[in-house]
Amino acid sequence: MTTSTLTTSAFFIRRLALAITFSLGLTAFVVSCSGGGLNLYGTDTDTQLGKQMDDQIRQNSAEYPIFRGNPAVKQYLQTMTDEIVRSEHVQYRGKFPYVVEVIQDDKTINAFCTPGGYIYVYTGLMKALDNEATLAGVMGHEIAHAERRHGTSRMTKAYGLQIITQIALGQSPSQLATLGANLFGGLALLKNSRLDEEDADVYSFKYLQSTRWYAGSIKFFFEKITAASGKAPSGAQGVIPNIATSVERLLSTHPLPQDRIDATNKRIEEAKLPPPSETNLRAQPYQQIKRMLP
Ligand SMILES: [Zn+2]
Repeated sequence: MTTSTLTTSAFFIRRLALAITFSLGLTAFVVSCSGGGLNLYGTDTDTQLGKQMDDQIRQNSAEYPIFRGNPAVKQYLQTMTDEIVRSEHVQYRGKFPYVVEVIQDDKTINAFCTPGGYIYVYTGLMKALDNEATLAGVMGHEIAHAERRHGTSRMTKAYGLQIITQIALGQSPSQLATLGANLFGGLALLKNSRLDEEDADVYSFKYLQSTRWYAGSIKFFFEKITAASGKAPSGAQGVIPNIATSVERLLSTHPLPQDRIDATNKRIEEAKLPPPSETNLRAQPYQQIKRMLP
């Protein structure tokens, strides 16, 4: 691409940016490369999409049964989240809500986060882990997906020019709502690429460095699922019922555990982290939390 083509394209995008800002009533519109790649959407889009998805999740109790047990469980996760987002590396504290909800599903060892910071934790994840630090590592990872704006970056890649063109032509007055609904239907916003996953691991490590938890703890989660997948050949009923299904679901959103263990070990070495201990893993207090789960 020549310089003049680039300049023309940039001009085109700037003009269309004005059109999209006007059409969607967004208060901010930025072309940003600071998060997880090029992003044509403002952070308001992340928050709006997150809110829409949160509404849909709450209306879909068949797929996402909200945990109605001891409220201390949700409070515990919220306190953990609040501590993690106090990290100096968190940019959208106060802008994104960073609220947690617990999903009552012991068969799913996973957590996810919408754009704009609505976090969901499955009871299956909490039960599968051995200590608080590992849970904090997973929470840091999910927070990073929102902070690094992976969802709207992928939207930019997948739909950017198409949406912008449609809006410029006046074909899509409620484009954002439609887009949110379609993407949610296909779970496209939650399907992170391998690069997004690596990026989220990097930032989980950074966030945890200013907390009480062992910063490399996400590797224990990968070790756990590697062991679980090894123990459970397809179709087998292991110690944990339906573990093969859980692991399969988890791997579909969080691929390649061994590579990520290796990468985390490298980070631990580079940061010269002292070895983990009960003080920064907090296995004992975590058992009390697990006992609150039915
Ligand atoms: Zn992820």
